[in-house]
Amino acid sequence: MSRYDVLIVGGGPVGLTLALILSRLRVSVCVCERCDEIVEDLRASTFHPPTLDLLDTLGITPLLLEQGLICPDWQVRWHETHERALFDLSLLSGETAHPYRLQCEQYRLSRSALEALRSEGVDIRLGCEVTSLDCGADAVTAGLSTGDRVSARYAVGADGARSIVRALVDPVFEGSTYPETTILATTRFAFHDHLPGLSHVSYVWWEKGTFSLLRLRDLWRCSLYPGEGESIEDAMTPAGIEAKLQRIWPRSTAYEVGEVRPYRVHLRLASTFREGPLMLAGDAAHLNPPSGGMGMNGGLHDAFALGAAIKSALDTGDERSLDRYAAVRRRAAETDILDQAARNRARMQERDPAKRRTQFESLQRLADNRAEARDYLLRTSMIDGLRRAEAML
Ligand SMILES: Cc1cc2nc3c(=O)[nH]c(=O)nc-3n(C[C@H](O)[C@H](O)[C@H](O)COP(=O)(O)OP(=O)(O)OC[C@H]3O[C@@H](n4cnc5c(N)ncnc54)[C@H](O)[C@@H]3O)c2cc1C
Repeated sequence: MSRYDVLIVGGGPVGLTLALILSRLRVSVCVCERCDEIVEDLRASTFHPPTLDLLDTLGITPLLLEQGLICPDWQVRWHETHERALFDLSLLSGETAHPYRLQCEQYRLSRSALEALRSEGVDIRLGCEVTSLDCGADAVTAGLSTGDRVSARYAVGADGARSIVRALVDPVFEGSTYPETTILATTRFAFHDHLPGLSHVSYVWWEKGTFSLLRLRDLWRCSLYPGEGESIEDAMTPAGIEAKLQRIWPRSTAYEVGEVRPYRVHLRLASTFREGPLMLAGDAAHLNPPSGGMGMNGGLHDAFALGAAIKSALDTGDERSLDRYAAVRRRAAETDILDQAARNRARMQERDPAKRRTQFESLQRLADNRAEARDYLLRTSMIDGLRRAEAML
């Protein structure tokens, strides 16, 4: 049976990034990932400034910049009138080396991290599910779907929403699931040539609902919702998607639609991020609405904090760094990630026209006031929360 300092369960963006951090700290690590390869599904597309600063220390940011689209501002807009509340991320210059959002698929981070890990000789096992975990006095032993067993001083659950590690640490995973189903559809249609003043990240209100448009290098990702009384099944048909895209920009020919994916939105937080030798990070520890693009970013902030905490515990034998990680990152998840994401979602879900107008005007005033906009962007770009957490570690 092979023995490591750390076993990472799950080779998503958080698990692979943590592995790279630990490898650079000369900690022996094994990653087990259930899938045979990096899954290229429609998930995170936004990297926030402090995440790019952190990934830069691993040499990953330049690779992402090569593949992504720099987003210098984002906006909330009215579809019918093209009015905008425009948030200029260059206000963050001086606070970060990357005063913008980067639009880039999360699998590109996973691929880059995987490549770096392989070149460093780290044991990455793809197509290898962790099926059991036993915690002994000084080791965790994992049973694998391949029939092998691996033991490690610590095991990290970076295994996403249905984490096997979290099932041991916190089987309840308290929280809620929102009622709406969002439909994500991609198209290469150039909305930016038609909708005036569109940002690469645009959250849009229209008379009867909401949608958002997020641009990647070669396509737009559109978040769409079923109409009033429309079932999700009907909304997902080619005709249902076409009708929603035609409402965004009417055109005589049909849209060429790439992928279509429905997803539900959760708000859940593990009661603790540590139980003895088991630690949680990323979606295994916290789930939030994608509004504002904070889930993966928050998980990556967990990874950097946890990497340093594990290194310190291994070097000194003093595990208080692990307790601090658990307490500090849980608090950051609660106050800076879940709360902010829930507020972002609630704002776009508002349907009352008068309340929307009031909210929109106050957003416009905020965006137009440089000092207030900067403070707001420090919060929504996750700089404030990360700084607060780092100061407590
Ligand atoms: C539509 C959508 C848009 C989003 N947009 C953004 C965004 O713009 N910005 C942002 O920050 N976040 C966003 N998110 C959230 C983001 O996708 C997640 O927070 C992120 O994927 C979490 O990464 P992770 O590594 O913790 O978990 P995951 O990506 O879920 O990876 C977990 C991995 O563990 C593996 N695994 C599970 N169980 C086992 C096991 N027993 N053994 C071995 N392997 C196992 C899985 O196969 C998987 O590869 C979005 C989410 C959605 C759904």
